[in-house]
Amino acid sequence: MESIYDNVRRVQERIAAACQRSGRRPEDVKLVAISKTFPAERVREAYHAGLREFGENRVQEAAAKRAALADLGITWHLVGHLQTNKAKTARELFQWVHSVDTIRLAQKLHQAASAGSARLRVLIEVNLAGEESKSGTRPQDVLPLAEEISRLGLLELRGLMAIPPIVENPEDARPYFRRLREMAEQLAGQKIAGITMADLSMGMTHDFEVAIEEGATIVRVGTGIFGGRD
Ligand SMILES: *Cc1c(COP(=O)(O)O)cnc(C)c1O
Repeated sequence: MESIYDNVRRVQERIAAACQRSGRRPEDVKLVAISKTFPAERVREAYHAGLREFGENRVQEAAAKRAALADLGITWHLVGHLQTNKAKTARELFQWVHSVDTIRLAQKLHQAASAGSARLRVLIEVNLAGEESKSGTRPQDVLPLAEEISRLGLLELRGLMAIPPIVENPEDARPYFRRLREMAEQLAGQKIAGITMADLSMGMTHDFEVAIEEGATIVRVGTGIFGGRD
């Protein structure tokens, strides 16, 4: 069996190499380990290998894992589609939500804040290729959604997220990553008060190096750390 420790080291080396190629600093790229389908013990191993940020795509599964790992200082990211009726639970479980794609969901997440809770960090998920099967907002709806979120004081809009179409050659994902970066730059140029727009969540095991070359500040890596999923 592959060791999670070795996998983490290998992914970190690949991140460092991609940063070097593109004149970026490795500390400017956050590695979020996507632990969906893997048990809490595997997450614990990855934590002991030095990782602190983990991502899940389903609220229910995350709740159980979080409870089993409450003794660790983990920052949790929701990277999968979120239904509005789970916004309250999501807000309790996660510090980041990468998949905000409607005004209604943003409002629900805002309203779900409890007294004294920190601002929830959110990203707008963009459906870059207009794929029916995927969630995410249409590119033309990103600006109005960002403006809405900026008015919700208990959310902090950190940037954009995308899952490009599946391609065999990671190079073929490059135009999508570039497009997302350009969209984020345009949005930052609008000078909307209250939004940060510092983050681009893009790149998975197969293509995170290309994503880093195109400006990713958050890469979401599952298989490369935990091995294949059934
Ligand atoms: C599963 C998942 C990942 C990780 O994918 P790998 O190919 O295993 O690295 C990243 N982002 C999202 C949204 C996912 O659902």
